[in-house]
Amino acid sequence: MSEKFFISTAIPYVNAKPHIGFALELAQADFIARYKRSHGKDVFFVTGTDDNALKNVQAAEDAGLPVEKFVHDQAKRFKELAEKLNISNDYFIETSIDPKHIEGAQKLWKAAGKDIYKKEYAGLYCVGCEEFKTEKELVNGRCNEHPDRDLVKVSEENYFFKLSSYEKKLKELIKSDKLKIVPESRKNEMLSFIESGLEDFSVSRSVERARGWGIPVPEDDSQIQYVWFDALSNYINSLDYANKSEKFENYWENAEEIVHVIGKGISRFHAIYWPAMLLSAGVRLPDTVFVHGYVTIDNQKMSKSLGNVIDPVTLIEKYGTDAVRYFLTRHINPFEDSDFSEERLAEAYQADLANGLGNFASRVSTLAAEAGELTSSKVDGQIESEIENARKNIENAVSQFRIHEAVAAAWNLIHFGDGYIDKKKPWESKDKKVIFDLVVLLDNIASLVAPVVPNAADKITSAINWKDKDRISVKKIEALFPRLE
Ligand SMILES: [Zn+2]
Repeated sequence: MSEKFFISTAIPYVNAKPHIGFALELAQADFIARYKRSHGKDVFFVTGTDDNALKNVQAAEDAGLPVEKFVHDQAKRFKELAEKLNISNDYFIETSIDPKHIEGAQKLWKAAGKDIYKKEYAGLYCVGCEEFKTEKELVNGRCNEHPDRDLVKVSEENYFFKLSSYEKKLKELIKSDKLKIVPESRKNEMLSFIESGLEDFSVSRSVERARGWGIPVPEDDSQIQYVWFDALSNYINSLDYANKSEKFENYWENAEEIVHVIGKGISRFHAIYWPAMLLSAGVRLPDTVFVHGYVTIDNQKMSKSLGNVIDPVTLIEKYGTDAVRYFLTRHINPFEDSDFSEERLAEAYQADLANGLGNFASRVSTLAAEAGELTSSKVDGQIESEIENARKNIENAVSQFRIHEAVAAAWNLIHFGDGYIDKKKPWESKDKKVIFDLVVLLDNIASLVAPVVPNAADKITSAINWKDKDRISVKKIEALFPRLE
């Protein structure tokens, strides 16, 4: 039985259209999911939407729509983005309507019951973060992530979760990498947050403040679960935690590895709150939290108010799915904030896709199609070792979530192929052995680029017909990436 691998993206709020930052997260997680599958892992990959946030309610009010309708319509856009990006998720969870999620969030609440208590509380709440802020976190009296939003003074009786009890345990787990936070800079951030002292956090709000929207607290109909408490449980609920399903046993409790892919703004929830909730409930912890940076525009965070939001769907329509996936994984640093510009996307398209992969596939397949059936008992040693080398470099990069380097390593093999073909000049020599070797190289390149550009990889693979392990015929591959006008 093959080993099980669980991977998730975060579930975004649906108050606005999906932006390119979420497309980045989808592309990164999908790269890893496809890579793991190609290495024989049995993968469960989940993405979805966080429907129960207060800011979704406010956005619905602004749009003049009932919350259910607004949220569900918005969720469709996220689902559609995943489809347009050719994301290979096994499940899409919508937290306001998925019965497995609602049941699971309530079960987790009960399972963590020994750490949940009621108290009177007053504090400043950021609706943007859906989080209470302490004085020391404020910058000029405002939320660092949402300086243009007013904080809301809240004072009411809420349920609290005893996060303070898990301080020592969490520190140990993160320090020892049993709960691995990638990159190291985020790990250190989490450790210093723990060292500053963990305070119990509120896990519910009054029905009035939640406007009646969200998942009820079990056995207390005056309270709604704090949106993060319910949202975080989506990961296990996608596997039907509530009913201890076989899927949950296989892909969570007994998984070889569990990875969450998230943006830097929510690392505390995933590296601290979520593991503490699981510890309390006696559920296995994730292994790795991979934290990516933000996609910025002219070094500024994208925001509706700045009017600089990039719509990934427009880019997909203009450049194609593979091109957007390629740019996001190769040219956006997986750990740091990275600037996006359409100009750079167009340049990368031309240089690496049209003139790179597309041109190489076209040259090799044209030669091979003209040559007819090709046979050889042995592949050129240099080609074999270059392929081996690329595989090792990719494996090493993926193991550290250095996705950009993994993609670059695959493209280095294409550069090698370009050099090889120029040196051997098979269009003059008509040397069938050389052409055979180039087809083997192209076939391997297709498998290595498949996690990034699955459509192009499919087209290459289906043009190469292996009649036997040493006999091939090839169909000409038409322009995979037509040159831009
Ligand atoms: Zn905020």
